[in-house]
Amino acid sequence: MKARIIDGKRIAAEMREALKERVKSLGHVGLAVIIVGENPASKVYVRNKEKACIEAGIHSEVIALPETTEQDELLERIRALNLDSKIHGILVQLPLPAHIDSRKALDSISAEKDVDGFHPFNVGSLLLGNPGLQPCTPHGVMKMLEREKVEIRGKHAVIVGASNIVGKPMAIMLLHQGATITICNSKTKDLARHTRDADILVVAVGRPNLVTGDMIKEGAVVIDVGMNRLESGKLAGDVDFESASGRASMITPVPGGVGPMTIAMLLENAVEAAARSKRG
Ligand code: NAP
Repeated sequence: MKARIIDGKRIAAEMREALKERVKSLGHVGLAVIIVGENPASKVYVRNKEKACIEAGIHSEVIALPETTEQDELLERIRALNLDSKIHGILVQLPLPAHIDSRKALDSISAEKDVDGFHPFNVGSLLLGNPGLQPCTPHGVMKMLEREKVEIRGKHAVIVGASNIVGKPMAIMLLHQGATITICNSKTKDLARHTRDADILVVAVGRPNLVTGDMIKEGAVVIDVGMNRLESGKLAGDVDFESASGRASMITPVPGGVGPMTIAMLLENAVEAAARSKRG
């Protein structure tokens, strides 16, 4: 079997185009992005998010703070943005410098402006099946599956990776759509035994070639969330694309798969937050 490629770049572009109309009808949507320090990858991510905002007509404010910023100062900045009626979404780019408690910073963003969907209130609402703002990466994966008309109900979804930002919310979202779920982590014994049983396989670990074709069930839908910068400078996922696409029925490439969807969902969350604030 030669897998059909799920073109995340195209789906994300269509979603971003549709968002432009919503932004226009809302009049003003504002997103603040805080970056602390000089992490080069973070700077690229923030630049890409800013570009995407501008293109969608979203007012974007990037607040770049020095590496030495104290935790209290960061919290004070977030507090001010929470109160700023022109700002509907706030994002703190991770990772933060080691001397800052990331959890404290994320929790201080008001739940209504939490466009990353990381606030405990939003995490809890997702768990209870009454989602508010949802984490962008797994939400983007769900949109892709929906667009590709992948049946989820009654299927076995295996998620490799159990982080708070990808693996865990991914599992909850698929569970709510009627999938039977297996979540694997670094302690999982015999990973292949689990992955081979997946109708839908989502891999979010951060290790190139962790999943190879022989670990995939014939006809499975494979979503590769991994983003690994190889020594050659090339970007690779966690799945060996060549061997996997010989077994899967559909597969996401890296780059051009989940990554662009994450940004599209961030914009959608900013617009959703603005719409909710206008509804009052
Ligand atoms: P993370 O916080 O480091 O979590 C990695 C997860 O993988 C952990 O749950 C860990 O298990 C598990 N794991 C590690 N080794 C494993 C193994 N051998 N077998 C099974 N599970 C294993 O990473 P993350 O933030 O979720 O990101 C994962 C990957 O996705 C990274 O490459 C990241 O760059 C990428 N990512 C991409 C996007 C995008 O937009 N495309 C967005 C976010 C993240 P334990 O819980 O036991 O430690």
